[in-house]
Amino acid sequence: MKIVALAGGVGGAKLAHGLAQILPPEDLTVIVNTGDDFEHLGLTICPDLDTVCYTLAGLANPETGWGRQNETWNVISNIERLGGPNWFRLGDQDLATHLERTRRLKEGKSLSQVTREFCEAWGIKQTVTPMSDSPVRTIVDTDEGELAFQEYFVHRHCEPRVKGFRFDGIEGAQPTVGADEALEAADAVVICPSNPWVSIDPILRVLALTPSPLPEGEGHKFDKPVVAVSPIIGGKTVKGPAAKMYAELGIEPSALAVAEHYRNLLTGFVLDSQDRQLSDKFKKGKILVTDTLMNSSADRARLAKDVLHFVGSLL
Ligand code: GDP
Repeated sequence: MKIVALAGGVGGAKLAHGLAQILPPEDLTVIVNTGDDFEHLGLTICPDLDTVCYTLAGLANPETGWGRQNETWNVISNIERLGGPNWFRLGDQDLATHLERTRRLKEGKSLSQVTREFCEAWGIKQTVTPMSDSPVRTIVDTDEGELAFQEYFVHRHCEPRVKGFRFDGIEGAQPTVGADEALEAADAVVICPSNPWVSIDPILRVLALTPSPLPEGEGHKFDKPVVAVSPIIGGKTVKGPAAKMYAELGIEPSALAVAEHYRNLLTGFVLDSQDRQLSDKFKKGKILVTDTLMNSSADRARLAKDVLHFVGSLL
C-alpha cells in the first residue's frame, strides 16, 4: 500500500517514523511543511524537514524531538559571547546541516534535490520531500502585529495572541515533482498529528487539497482516502501551540475541531482513546479510536500499524 504522509515537525516526524517501521521504504513518501523555514545567521534553516530527516535517520534528540542527539553548543555560545543572536538554538552538528544546505542552494540546487542528497547521506530509504522548492514563509498575525513564524514560535514563545495566518509566497509555489509523483501513485494520504494551522494547512494549500471549509455538500476533488490523526488529545496539544491557536481564534480546541478543520478532505479520522466519548459526534467519514500518544519507538510503530489497518479498510 503506497502512502503519502503529510508532516510538520515533531508530531509529524513521530508518525512518519512509525510508518517507516511498517511499510517497505518504497511505499512511503513524506511531504514536509516548509512554511516554518527561515533565514538566520545567513543560513537557510528548514526545521520541519530536518526534524523529519533526523528522526527517520535515528539522529534526532530523543528528549526534545528536534535537533540532534549528543549535541554540543560551541558555535552558538561563541556567537552569544560576541553579542550575536542566540534565541534560536542551533547545535554544532545541526549547524553543519544548515551550512551545507545553504552552500548547495547557493550553487543553484533545489531544496528537494539537497534533501534527496542529505537523505542518501543519512541512509534514509524512504522518500522525503519539501512541499515546494519555492520559499513559503508563514506569517502569524497577532495582537502585537504580524510576526514571522520563528519570531512568534521560538523568540516570543507563542505568547502573542493569534488572530490569523498568511503564507507568503504560497500563490506561486508549486509542489515538488516528488510530491506530485507520490500523490499520483499513492493509495492513500495520511495527515500526521501535526499542527493543522501552521504545519498542515500550508502543505494542503500547495498541493491544492483545500483545507478551508467548502460550502456544505461540496466535496473535495481528491479521490483517494485521506486519514488524519488528531494532534489534540483531551482538548490539549501534546506539545506546541495548536490548542492555544484554536482557542484564540474562537474555536474550542478538541479532536472535533481538528476533524472539522479538515472535514472536506477526510475519509477517516483517528482520535485518541481518551476522546472516545466524542466519537458519536463525528458526522462524516469513519472513525478509529486508539492510543495516539507516541512516547516510544514502539508506540509509533503500533499507531502506524493501526492507522494502516484503518486505511486498508477504507480502500
Ligand atoms: P512542529 O512543527 O515541530 O510544531 O511539529 P508538528 O506540527 O508536526 O507537531 C506539533 C503537534 O504534534 C502538536 O499539536 C502536538 O500535539 C502533536 N503531537 C506531538 N506528539 C504527539 C503524539 O505523540 N501523539 C499525538 N496524537 N500528537 C502529538
